[in-house]
Amino acid sequence: MPATLAIDGGTPVRKTLLPYGRQSVSKEDIAAVTEVLRSDWLTTGPKVKEFETAFADFCGVGEAIAVNSGTAALHAAMFALDIGKGDEVIVPTMTFAATANAVVFQGGTPVFVDSEPASLLIDPACVEKAITKATKAIIAVDYAGQPADYSALASIAQKHKIALVADACHALGGKDGDRPVGSLANLSTFSFHPVKPMTTGEGGMITTSDADCAKRMRRFRNHGITSEHRDRHEARSWFYEMEALGYNYRLTDMQCALGISQLRNVPAWNEKRRAIAKKYDAAFAGIPGIHPLQVRKNVTHVYHLYVVRIVPERLCVGRKEIFRALGAENIGVNVHYIPVHLHPFYRKEFGTKPGLCPMAEAAYEDILSLPMFATMSEKDSDDVIEAVRKVCAAYAK
Ligand SMILES: *Cc1c(COP(=O)(O)O)cnc(C)c1O
Repeated sequence: MPATLAIDGGTPVRKTLLPYGRQSVSKEDIAAVTEVLRSDWLTTGPKVKEFETAFADFCGVGEAIAVNSGTAALHAAMFALDIGKGDEVIVPTMTFAATANAVVFQGGTPVFVDSEPASLLIDPACVEKAITKATKAIIAVDYAGQPADYSALASIAQKHKIALVADACHALGGKDGDRPVGSLANLSTFSFHPVKPMTTGEGGMITTSDADCAKRMRRFRNHGITSEHRDRHEARSWFYEMEALGYNYRLTDMQCALGISQLRNVPAWNEKRRAIAKKYDAAFAGIPGIHPLQVRKNVTHVYHLYVVRIVPERLCVGRKEIFRALGAENIGVNVHYIPVHLHPFYRKEFGTKPGLCPMAEAAYEDILSLPMFATMSEKDSDDVIEAVRKVCAAYAK
């Protein structure tokens, strides 16, 4: 007899909820932030450059531009590429809405493409088919923390003379062969939201080796103005000019100090998540009701998310029931993502509808993100495995 599920009145695997993701903040992080609070510069100060330099070094690129969210990073990237009315930008539908929204912010049109079903990464064959005379750029997403197929995407981009952008919000510290994420596309964007690989509360970064793009994005984050407050302070000058429409997308010095401190832990955190993923892979190989996503050869996957697909032929209920049952066992599951082209905004404004991206739409029906963060204990990951085993056994077909 399988154990009674918590959703049916049984005892839950855990007493308290294990979230699907969470940040870790150390004493050193807190000290770094309070030091800034006692200093002269709370924003546009020295910590910004220091964080940018450390981040660029980490990614093996010339330039990093700090902004106040991953969304702002994508917006700045679209600005730097001069995306505007009439321009098409290819985006995967299996992503967070912000990837496509950034194209719309600039007046461009996002063109949604499908995913490879095994990895849920953007499918280069679909990208090739979606290219038109109006295509100006491709944004790839390193879904779940696995770098997309940048070799294939870069050759498409070169052939058609368009830009390649990496939405690398999931993949800081990942690699394609020896090449670090952040150096795999013309522009790469990162998010420092608390569930992401490192945090500054809110925050983001763009990396590039294109110095001209970097300059444009530094102005863009500062109202489109040619100098920053601190430059003028140092030059004892009031004069500035606004040469393009920009925004206030600046990251504060408190956040940059936190970022510098957090960045030091990224390699160790990534190794911890990779170890948890290995443990999950081994345990789930013996559970017929679920199937982990495939990892491409020669990449370092950093497992921002651990996504499984449920196998409908082996279970007598659907994803919704599995989701609820795991939640009742106090396992915080999530779903990444609702395909962006199915959101009401895109249906209304861009006429997208079901059937446009069949692989991603099918995946959306059976994906689940299981708890995955660096500070999970052995007991936490044991609980996840036990709960998955329990729920799949109870609903086995
Ligand atoms: C989190 C995320 C974003 C947006 O980042 P914010 O910092 O929340 O603005 C964009 N794209 C992807 C793939 C993300 O995961």
